[in-house]
Formats: sequence, structure tokens, C-alpha cells
Amino acid sequence: MKQKLVILGSTGSIGVNTLDVASRHPERFEVFALTAATRVELLFQQCVEFRPRFAVMTSFDHAAELSQRLKASGTQTQVMAGPEALVEMASHEEVDMVMAAIVGAAGLGACLAAARSAKRLLLANKEALVVGGAFFMKAVQQGGAKLLPIDSEHSAIFQSLPDDAQTWSQRIEKIILTASGGPFRTRKVTTLKDVLPEEACAHPNWAMGRKISVDSATMMNKALEVIEAHYLFGMSPEHLEVVIHPESIIHSMVQYKDHSIVAQMGTPDMRVPIAYGMSWPHRMESGAQALNFETLKPMTFESVMEHEHPQRFPGLQLAWHALRAPSGSTAVLNAANEVAVAAFLDLKIRFDQIAQVNQHMLSSMSFESPTGLEDLIELDARSRSLADQYVQSIQR
Ligand code: NAD
Ligand code: MG
Repeated sequence: MKQKLVILGSTGSIGVNTLDVASRHPERFEVFALTAATRVELLFQQCVEFRPRFAVMTSFDHAAELSQRLKASGTQTQVMAGPEALVEMASHEEVDMVMAAIVGAAGLGACLAAARSAKRLLLANKEALVVGGAFFMKAVQQGGAKLLPIDSEHSAIFQSLPDDAQTWSQRIEKIILTASGGPFRTRKVTTLKDVLPEEACAHPNWAMGRKISVDSATMMNKALEVIEAHYLFGMSPEHLEVVIHPESIIHSMVQYKDHSIVAQMGTPDMRVPIAYGMSWPHRMESGAQALNFETLKPMTFESVMEHEHPQRFPGLQLAWHALRAPSGSTAVLNAANEVAVAAFLDLKIRFDQIAQVNQHMLSSMSFESPTGLEDLIELDARSRSLADQYVQSIQR
């Protein structure tokens, strides 16, 4: 029996890589549904190639255009629109696996639908977990879903951990996430205010969507990943560490109580964690190149406290601030950052002001302790609107 796969956000960087992996194993996977926000042309091509039963677009106009083109081409994919359709696909009874590759908190509803209907949930959409936090993990547990991390660091950690989660707290001293340092690791700190969106989106090691590329340049991506690791692996903030490793060969590490460190390595290619998530507990071909030790450059490491790194990456420490602040703070931080990154990409604020918006929101937002996911979704919306107001109040 083929496994039926839904890809939420199939036109993005993770979505395209997932289709590439699936296409290498047509005997194992059937593409059941593909979804996208606005890119009609690419979703059309994907539907023609993979013949999914359903395709979903965010707006009804885009859906109508896609539907028309598919009919004209003789492709029988049924087209739907809107967030309810994403939820319907993620929880469809015939579906085995859901790749959550929408960017931002917009993906939370569909992730929860997959979690509550006991799917294998391949989680690339880190913002959904940063917003939902412990309540998200509880939904996974109560729904009987299997959550597999797709973020390369978290896949590396998952691969470096023993199977028996009950023993993690006794055996593990800390989790060490590696960070490439992004495109501005060596750029003069005083020039960061002049960074243009195109420069921030040009990552040295990975080709990714624009939002995560900006997050990698500010290191907010690593802050979100520290929070993600906290919730995924139940590790307290003081047992989470970040080290800069510019070559992106070691994808993260687990340090045990005896000071043995287990690391996962490979070429920087997202098809490796994607294939692992799809084939777990087994392995299958991913399409990624193997490491070549004859040509491999020396691997280097830098402390995040070295040189000017704390000034260069002021957002990184916000992960620990948010994890130690009242519950709900990680949702506030994520909302602030989504608004700030969008404003930077729209040339409304400077690159260095992204951290300013995030810091401001984290320290000024007051809210009651969330009692469930509904409260967090409401907190996310309120934080966005306040972050928007703050963005409008600052000078670029
Ligand atoms: P991307 O911008 O390339 O793609 C995003 C996808 O989501 C697109 O298909 C888009 O159509 C869809 N989308 C965007 N907004 C939407 C909305 N409001 N409603 C419904 N669909 C929407 O992003 P990406 O780089 O593929 O990243 C996706 C997620 O995976 C992010 O959460 C990112 O942090 C995470 N991630 C990405 C990488 C990577 O290498 N690209 C690595 C690790 C984690
Ligand atoms: Mg990552």
C-alpha cells in the first residue's frame, strides 16, 4: 500500500524538496494533496506532474484560475480554497503523512488538524510550534500523531538521541544546535543598518524562502529553533546551547552526561531530513550528495559570545528570555518577528530594527496566562496588531 502524502506549502523551498524526494520513490508514496498561497503556475505544473487528488489555494480567485487551467489540460485534480480546506486535507481519513511546510503561524491550524487525526506530521513549520508550545505537543500526544522534525538541526538531534524518550533527562547534559551565522557573520556591525532585502535573502549554504532567509541573517531563526528544541525534546533553556559552525556540515549535537557528544553530519541538503522523516524508522535514498572527505574544507566553530557576535545577533538571546518569561511569550516573540521581517522586506524598517521590534514586543506586551490553543491564537493576533502599530511608530 502506498502512503498518501499531503504537502502543505508545496510551492515553497521545503515543498519542492519534498516532491523531489517523493518522486524518487513512486512505489512508496502517492501525492494526495498539494497546497499553495499564490503561485498558480508552479502549483499547476506540480498537479500535472504528480496528479494529486486535491489542490488548495489560499484565495478563491487563485483557486478558480488553477481549476480552469487544470481542466484545460485534462488533469483531474479537484481544486479548493481557504484555510478550512487546508484543515480538511491535513485531517483527511485516507491520508497517512502531512508535510507541514507553510511559513509562519498561518500553518498552525492545519498542523493541529494533522496532530489531532493521528497523522505522521513532518514539521518544517517551526513557527506553528513556537506559537502553540506545550499545548501543541499535548495535541500531538492526545491525537496519537507521530511528530517528526524536518528542521535540519532538530532532525540531527532526533537522530542523535536514544529511542527511549523516558531516559533523556537522566542521560543528556545538553543539546548543542549549530548555526552557520548566515550571510553577515563577518560583515562590519556598523553597516548592518544598510542591509538590503536581497542581501539578507542570499544565504551562503542553503537556498530557502525569504522569511527564513532573513531569520537566518538576524539569527532569529536560531532563536526560534532553540524554542522549537525546548518543546520537541522537553529540554529546559539552560540545557540548550548554540555554537556557530559556518560550514553547515554538523547539523547539531547531543552531549551526554559522560561528555560523549553524538553529532549528525552531511552535506547541507534539506532532502536528507525530509527523506528521514518520510522513511523513519528506516532510511531511503534522498537525492543528496554524500560528503566527500577528500575535498571537505576544515570544519570550524565559533562561540556566539566571540568578537561582536552578541551585537551582531541581538535577537538570539530572546529565545532564552521568552522561554523564561510567562507562558505565551514565545507566541508574542514569533508574532513580532513575523511582522518585523515582513516590514523589513517591504522596506518599512531597517534590518537592525527587526531585533528592536522583537525586543520591544517581548518586554512591553502584557497578557493573561494562556489556558489553551485558542488563547494562543488570540494572543498571536493581538501581538501582530501591536507589533504593526510599533513598526509604524518608528523611523526607518
Ligand atoms: P517558502 O516561503 O519557500 O514556502 C512557503 C510555502 O507556504 C509556499 O508554498 C507558500 O505558498 C505557502 N504559504 C505561505 N504563506 C501561506 C499562508 N498564509 N497560507 C497558506 N500557505 C502559505 O518557505 P520555506 O523556506 O519552504 O519554509 C517553510 C517552513 O519550513 C518555514 O516555517 C521555515 O522556517 C521551515 N524551514 C525551512 C527550511 C528551508 O531550508 N527552506 C529549513 C528548515 C525549516
Ligand atoms: Mg534549521
